[in-house]
Amino acid sequence: MKICLLASGSGGNSICVQNGSSSVLIDAGLTGKRIEERLQGVGINPAGLQAIVVSHEHSDHIKGVGVLARRYGLPVWMTEGTLNASKKIFRGTEKIRVFENDEAFSIGDLSFQAFQLPHDAADPVNFSVTDGHSNVTVATDMGTVTQLVYQYMRHADLVIIETNYDYQLLMDGPYPWVLKQRISSTHGHLSNDGAAEALCNLAKEGLQQAVLAHLSEKNNRPDLARETCADMLQGQGVRSFPLSVAEQDRPSDIFVI
Ligand SMILES: [Zn+2]
Ligand SMILES: [Zn+2]
Repeated sequence: MKICLLASGSGGNSICVQNGSSSVLIDAGLTGKRIEERLQGVGINPAGLQAIVVSHEHSDHIKGVGVLARRYGLPVWMTEGTLNASKKIFRGTEKIRVFENDEAFSIGDLSFQAFQLPHDAADPVNFSVTDGHSNVTVATDMGTVTQLVYQYMRHADLVIIETNYDYQLLMDGPYPWVLKQRISSTHGHLSNDGAAEALCNLAKEGLQQAVLAHLSEKNNRPDLARETCADMLQGQGVRSFPLSVAEQDRPSDIFVI
């Protein structure tokens, strides 16, 4: 499988997962045009996509979904709760495929297992994706790492995990108190420390590779997210663990697993 994070952060998220003839977007949270540009930038033809799979209705995940679905005739997979909360992006001509928040479904050669996450959206999920050989698990937009999320991460060859904020930067930053509370709650976003702790446990169980994702522009910095995780891993005796930080303004490397 090949995985590319086209964009990652509070300003918009989209991940392209490919295997052989199957290419699927998980979320499309930039404008349709921007997503097309990013795809072309990494050598992927948007006309070759098979579907868009949606995690939840926040605009940083669905901004371009309607436009791309109509332009390329792509089916859009989402839970009923997410669909009801994102009706404004659709015009009624799109092909919608509804799945349950714990369901597995296939798109071409790729199997998607949905799982619930604790996040302040209607029916938020994320996905563990496999082609039968390897597995990538996406765990972003979650206030805490639940047992369920952990179970999906521990079977992955590649984990894409949220490092949304540095606790001190969030608390010292410009956001109103109510928003700081929302972000740091168990139904908000995951901190660098929260991700680092999960990664230490996963690395001890054999995880080989992780991407730090969905960083806040205001409450985090790539170097801080990486250092927090790398320091905790090293402190717990886990060495040479490859950590990448996905960025908002450009696509990531293409990860081959
Ligand atoms: Zn988000
Ligand atoms: Zn969200």
